[in-house]
Amino acid sequence: MLFGAHVSAAGGISNAIDRIEAIGGNAVQVFTQSPRMWKPTQHAPEELERFRVRRREARVRHVSCHALYLVNLASRDREIRSKSFDALQATMETAREIGADAVVFHVGSHLGYGFDDAVKVVAPALRALLELTTDELWLCVENAAGAGGTIGRSVAELAVLCDSLDGHPRLGVCLDSCHWWASGIDVTDAETLDQALKELETGLGLERLRVLHINDSKTPLGSNRDRHDVVARGLLGNGLATFLGHPAFRELPAVLETWPEDGLSPADMNLLRTLHRRGRRRKRPS
Ligand SMILES: [Zn+2]
Ligand SMILES: [Zn+2]
Repeated sequence: MLFGAHVSAAGGISNAIDRIEAIGGNAVQVFTQSPRMWKPTQHAPEELERFRVRRREARVRHVSCHALYLVNLASRDREIRSKSFDALQATMETAREIGADAVVFHVGSHLGYGFDDAVKVVAPALRALLELTTDELWLCVENAAGAGGTIGRSVAELAVLCDSLDGHPRLGVCLDSCHWWASGIDVTDAETLDQALKELETGLGLERLRVLHINDSKTPLGSNRDRHDVVARGLLGNGLATFLGHPAFRELPAVLETWPEDGLSPADMNLLRTLHRRGRRRKRPS
């Protein structure tokens, strides 16, 4: 397993590598532009180049770019849909330029008009975006906590979405531990987790799993509310060891998105590693 975190790209996107190196991570996630503004950031060519060079030096083995929070490919508003598409396209382009492995994004929300119709709305945009993927760069849908018509709240929804794209070979999945918990999967319970991953294997194929987001949750199981908490300090607590230690995740990057108020530190990477080790040792149902 690789261990890393979402880090700031402030002062130039290549600084993200310095930041992850400083805390001892070998996987990193960045925003390629401000996540709350539509306007894309223009990265200087030297920055893109330095990112790739520093990545090799720092031995960072996984890079994800997280798309804007504003993205909603399922919006009924044509303008929002078109801005969302443009933003994702810009993210894919920067991701390719820095040699990233994945663009992770939230499909969005149908805000009540229904999942089946929403799939028809988002599929053409996703098809066009998948054209921008390469053997290295995948497009990864993140599972949703399930609030307000968010798309991808269950493995079944992700599978329908995947089928609507004819099972495109470079459509990936990013699993967020907090979102899975909030959507009703107790990821701290080995049997439940096994069952959910079997469903994912059947519906989508485990090879689509590309990234894990490791977050604890402030809100209860099945609450459908997305409130991250610092790892091991929320309702999942040390139960996150079960999630991190699952054999299906062995090769994946575990990316921390929530950390203590005093900022990210090597201790956060060590905590991930400790929980992972503990989870590996845990007896699993046969
Ligand atoms: Zn996300
Ligand atoms: Zn979240």
